[in-house]
Amino acid sequence: MAKTALITGSSQGIGASIALRLAKDGFNIAVNCRSEAELENGGKQIAAQCREFGVDADCFVCDVTDFEACGEMVKKIAARFESLDVLVNNAGITKDGLLARMSEEQFGMVIDVNLKGVFNITRHVSALLIRQKKGGRIINISSVAGLYGNAGQFNYSASKAGVIGMTKTAAKELGARNITVNAVAPGFIETPMTDVLPEKVKEQIKGQISLGRYGRPEEVASVVSFLASQDASYVSGQVIAIDGALRM
Ligand code: NDP
Repeated sequence: MAKTALITGSSQGIGASIALRLAKDGFNIAVNCRSEAELENGGKQIAAQCREFGVDADCFVCDVTDFEACGEMVKKIAARFESLDVLVNNAGITKDGLLARMSEEQFGMVIDVNLKGVFNITRHVSALLIRQKKGGRIINISSVAGLYGNAGQFNYSASKAGVIGMTKTAAKELGARNITVNAVAPGFIETPMTDVLPEKVKEQIKGQISLGRYGRPEEVASVVSFLASQDASYVSGQVIAIDGALRM
């Protein structure tokens, strides 16, 4: 029976690339969209593209900040595909600003999606994986900002550093169940999230990247593909940077 992967926030950007890559690898795909609008504006299309690889794929609307809704979504996915084997916690947002001017709301929104959202989904998926007794994979999308900090991203860096702590703790708790938990820490990747940066800032950043260019979403997806594969069966609790040697 084909394995199933859930990728949160997978209607665009890195999440969409991961969905397509895992479909190519033979996984059935649960595409998660935050809203019905997102489902119409990209989610359905990504699911259709996944099916072109000969796997099953469907869309599930759920805002990862809603704990109960996350539980309902996980139940629906398990019923729709008979099992769930891989979780990729990808949904994330930025609300950048300097610390001295950052509002409580700006801080809270990012923590709610990027940190509590990961708890909300992982809490339900880990319980399901334990019940299924078939092992599993959890892959969290952190960021170099969580490893090294980044001016203007006090909220985002906190959330992404928190994801690394969660990754290592979950790896320790779930290892005995043959569930591996890893994180990837992308640098600057060409997606709608980074498209909004001013050109001047983009050029400054590019100057710091040893490979001299932004990464592509597919270059994150290929590392996630490895972590979801049998080849990574003994890799757990790790953080793999995907940043073109931006930081070492
Ligand atoms: P995008 O903004 O392109 O995509 C993020 C996706 O997450 C969107 O589909 C978005 O939906 C969804 N999402 C946001 N909030 C929620 C929510 N509450 N519930 C469900 N889905 C939600 O970003 P990227 O593809 O660039 O980023 C993907 C991940 O990679 C994020 O975790 C990001 O922090 C991380 N990352 C990105 C880097 C980059 O350079 N791009 C670098 C390092 C890490 P909607 O559009 O409806 O809000």
